[in-house]
Amino acid sequence: MIFDILTLFPGMFDGAFSDSIIKRAVEKGLVSIGIHNIRDYSDDARHQSVDDYPYGGDAGMLMKPEPLANAIRASRERLAGKNPLVVYMTPAGRLLNQNVVKELAEKESLILLCGRYKGIDQRVTDNYVDMEVSVGDYVLSGGEIPAMAVVDAVTRLIPGVLGNMDSAETDSFHSGLLSHPHYTRPEVFEGISVPEVLLSGHHANIRKWQHQKSLEITRVRRPDLLTAENI
Ligand code: SAM
Repeated sequence: MIFDILTLFPGMFDGAFSDSIIKRAVEKGLVSIGIHNIRDYSDDARHQSVDDYPYGGDAGMLMKPEPLANAIRASRERLAGKNPLVVYMTPAGRLLNQNVVKELAEKESLILLCGRYKGIDQRVTDNYVDMEVSVGDYVLSGGEIPAMAVVDAVTRLIPGVLGNMDSAETDSFHSGLLSHPHYTRPEVFEGISVPEVLLSGHHANIRKWQHQKSLEITRVRRPDLLTAENI
């Protein structure tokens, strides 16, 4: 999987991708991440401006279409032959859930476009964007944190990234349900014991208990996730 991230703040990604699972995935060559400054694609060589006033007199600034279009075209050229999907991070997009993550993980490459200010000129969306994705019903200052969430969630699903694929398969949402509770040592912590079934070594009973707990938690917290297939 190749991620090409288009942003006005490349420095924001330094820490996010330099540790743990994503770092190892990059080192193993399972994912590659390019981070590109949209400002480098400004057609205004002198000031490298990337924003302008919106028509209609709204407050705030908008990202101009030319630098965005130039940046996306350059990214498509870099990823030629890799079928890049252009994804714009926006509160108006499809809500990011595990099904959307699975869909994205099947692509060969993703161009993640991070907005700033009041967002981007609609004509860029119309002409260049294949999919719009939101990370929730709230407004962040930019698309960088949403793009990090996409890279992280998608990377976890790339075969070979997690030491044991089971750990992705037993995560919340993979089967459509929330995850069951988890316990590690010690057997008793602050007066609370690990449920006995988990100490029994009886794998069928353990799976049954885990599924039951997943169902209980999902029923209470996210009944909207329950379907005929997963109950
Ligand atoms: N005016 C926009 C609106 O009301 O939808 C919000 C603009 S926001 C301040 C600036 C940028 O942050 C957006 O262009 C988008 O890229 C990103 N952003 C903010 N919230 C987001 C969310 N919930 N999901 C994805 N991207 C988001």
